[in-house]
Amino acid sequence: MSIFAGCQLSALKKNSAAVAMELGEVPWLSEAAEKYKPRDKDMLCEMYVLQYYVDFEKKEFTGDVKIHINLLSVIPFIVLDKGRCTIEELSVRRGNDYIDIDGAYDYTPKEKLIICLSRKLIPGKYKIVASVRGDLSEKPEGFFLINHSRDRLFAMTHFWPDHAKHVFPCFNDPAFKSVFIISLVRPTGLGFKAISNMKPEKRISDYPSEKLTTIYFMATPPLQVMSLTMIIGNLVTSDPSQAKLGYTVSVSCREELINRTKEVQDMICSIMGVIGKFIRTQFNLTKIDVVALPIQNFPPYCMGNPGVIVFNEHEICSVSDKTAIYYTRVVRKMIHEVMHMWMGNMMTSVSWEHYWLYEGIVGYMCQILGSQMFPSWYTEWITLHYDLQPAMEVEPWFPSTLSNAMNREKPPNLNSLAAQTLFYGKSTSCLRMMGSMDFTNFRFQMTQFFSHKGDISRKKLLYENVDSVLETKRLENMIFSWQDTESFPLVTVVVNGTGKVSLEQKPFGRKSTHKTEDQTSTSSNLMMIPMLYFELEDPKRIKTIWFEEEGHPILLQTVLRPFKLNWHQSGYYRVNYTKDMWAHFASVMNEEEKTLDTEDKANLIDDAFALAEYGHIHHGVPLSLVVYLRSGNETHPLPWMMATKHLERIYHRTLNTQITYLLEMLVKMLIQSYLENESIWTLAKQPIPDVIRKLAIINLGGTFLNEDVIERLKYVLNNFLEEDTISMELKKATFAHALKGEEVDDELFETLLSRFKEENNIFKKWMFWTALVGVQSEQHIATLWEIANGPEEEEDGGRLNQLLRLRILSTNPMSHSYFWPYIMDKWTTYCRLSNQDRDNIKGILLNLIEFSRNLEFLQQLSEYGEANEDLDVQLYALKVKADCERWNAHNYMQFVEEWLHLFIMNNT
Ligand SMILES: [Zn+2]
Repeated sequence: MSIFAGCQLSALKKNSAAVAMELGEVPWLSEAAEKYKPRDKDMLCEMYVLQYYVDFEKKEFTGDVKIHINLLSVIPFIVLDKGRCTIEELSVRRGNDYIDIDGAYDYTPKEKLIICLSRKLIPGKYKIVASVRGDLSEKPEGFFLINHSRDRLFAMTHFWPDHAKHVFPCFNDPAFKSVFIISLVRPTGLGFKAISNMKPEKRISDYPSEKLTTIYFMATPPLQVMSLTMIIGNLVTSDPSQAKLGYTVSVSCREELINRTKEVQDMICSIMGVIGKFIRTQFNLTKIDVVALPIQNFPPYCMGNPGVIVFNEHEICSVSDKTAIYYTRVVRKMIHEVMHMWMGNMMTSVSWEHYWLYEGIVGYMCQILGSQMFPSWYTEWITLHYDLQPAMEVEPWFPSTLSNAMNREKPPNLNSLAAQTLFYGKSTSCLRMMGSMDFTNFRFQMTQFFSHKGDISRKKLLYENVDSVLETKRLENMIFSWQDTESFPLVTVVVNGTGKVSLEQKPFGRKSTHKTEDQTSTSSNLMMIPMLYFELEDPKRIKTIWFEEEGHPILLQTVLRPFKLNWHQSGYYRVNYTKDMWAHFASVMNEEEKTLDTEDKANLIDDAFALAEYGHIHHGVPLSLVVYLRSGNETHPLPWMMATKHLERIYHRTLNTQITYLLEMLVKMLIQSYLENESIWTLAKQPIPDVIRKLAIINLGGTFLNEDVIERLKYVLNNFLEEDTISMELKKATFAHALKGEEVDDELFETLLSRFKEENNIFKKWMFWTALVGVQSEQHIATLWEIANGPEEEEDGGRLNQLLRLRILSTNPMSHSYFWPYIMDKWTTYCRLSNQDRDNIKGILLNLIEFSRNLEFLQQLSEYGEANEDLDVQLYALKVKADCERWNAHNYMQFVEEWLHLFIMNNT
């Protein structure tokens, strides 16, 4: 069936060859798509000439596409990637001659366009010419529309990793790099601006028609298709900063924000300076456009392509006015995107299999560059907190690897939060593990790496240089083994009768979920692990030891001298020590010796809780490690964040049991001495790590219903109701906890409720609602449930719509009995809803899962998540179910209760 019945194709007009676009239902298409998928040995894709026009009124785009290829072998078909766009004209030419085409097939199942030639194409230069049209997407895939308001319209492309096919037929294989010559047609005047990777070279007004202007950009250096960027929108641009090395940096954003972006411009310049020094390679483009757009729900939140960096405008306006934790996140993202931008065409991978390296190198560079720019606060804890620890949390239950070995033809599927966490975090951590072995050498190799520039994808396998980082080790094998293997190693310390210490490894946490048929893979699961460690009597001397390729046990010491493996959690593995060694760590930490750095303390706490959760050790081990915090001397945020995360999990898992009160007592003991010291409430203008640590302590108190904390926050909130004077740092904690506690303050509740109803400012409304849902009373929860389900209010952008109100309410487990009977009926197919609604429903379901101990309900939720193609909900429900089963099967409840009971008796 022709999808363009009656449409005269250009090839048909000028040449007798009949061309018809057909939907792919012919059986041989599948084979052709596979067999004739072009490789870089078959052809070079030399150049794309693209002209695009966006019609904001019709919400569509049209484009003229010319793809210049240099064919190196004989082919009977041309197979291109093609997604949702529509092809209106198509021809293949050699010079001025048209090549006879038998047919062009839109093979939708594989998202390919297959051009069947009437006879085989012989090597030589050809041009594929097409006219395309498509709708501007609502999702950030391909060309998408950001509809901020009537006079603020934006369209931008997001092609990572394989969305270019929705905008034009292309060869989106990482091995191909091409020159792009772009022109964009935008409305004349009206404040519209067009931005692409390169500087504009020429502008023609009233072309191609009246009221339109065409902007021609300079040709790009060879780029992968996914690095290409096109943006048209109502933007103003700042005066460019001129960097010493000759490029300019400017910010484009909505007119009303331009005065709030100067700081970002300066910051990007200094990040560029630091990167330049580090990799000692000259930046090869002449300009950097930093574009701030009002993007909602843009999954990566920002994008760094050669010459263009896009941020969500919320993130980069008035950066220093942000709270400490927000500021750390924004700075990290900025370095990340600038780094992507810099290496976008210098260092690329040759196949999707290595796609993870893009994020890995950028993530690792964030740690290095961040600590050079902000040595007072940007240290390893940022990487540990944002990358390594979240990835290690996800990995034992998320069935994925970095390469997504199931399909090497495609980039990994990152459509879930869990997959993203794992992909970004694990890749960063694996490279950090290698870099930590010999940083000077690693840096040298990275520099070499970068100076390959465009050539690396054609001439060299990405790993060739890395491989010589450590001469005696096969680093390439090592990277592959980390990339292809699920899970990470658990290193176990074994001390035999004569005091010999050896190390063994096995995969962490996978046994219970893995089917036994997979037995054979167990042996290959053993990995090469480089390990840094030190002996406690000489903590400054960091030593190195390796698990070799076969993963055989290794001998560490002939006589036991206490040691700590995984110095600064530099490696991506966990360690289980002997019972005596764990006890020794607990006493070292409690005796306030300076033997262990905070990173090591946090690592011990994290490993111990994870090991207890999976049944390797008793829960008393991690609990006796965290009690050192009560000394009042822990001034670093990392151990606090670590302890908070794990204690909260146990709290949720055992809510409304005997343990609840005991845990509240424990937390009271941990934070008491900090609360007595008034400075904990001083948050404004304090060093970033201090603020984050103090907030972690305050939030820990709030979560565990600490009366002193709640009392204080209530006082702050009452003041706020008189006059908005709360420091920004304290705001979130105040609203999250002020209404908690067994004694319900009815008066405060009523006041907040009426303020919530009257409030027009969406942000304040949100805060009032957040405070309200903390209330610990059945009666008030019933009231809130009614209100949450009330009619949609008329608000700009509907940001506090029904689903968002419900989502915030679901953070209170007392509301869950209302949700249970309701969800499955109400949102039967939430996968079809808008991104925002879907996100809110996902948020609600994850909250329900977090607090549930009902195995049947968890199973149902998992199936529900699966039916809605929501991997996070599906797998998280299964994870919590498995956790609950473990808690039941191994009597964790009883152990934890006994330990807490004894500890509290002995210490009060
Ligand atoms: Zn990235």
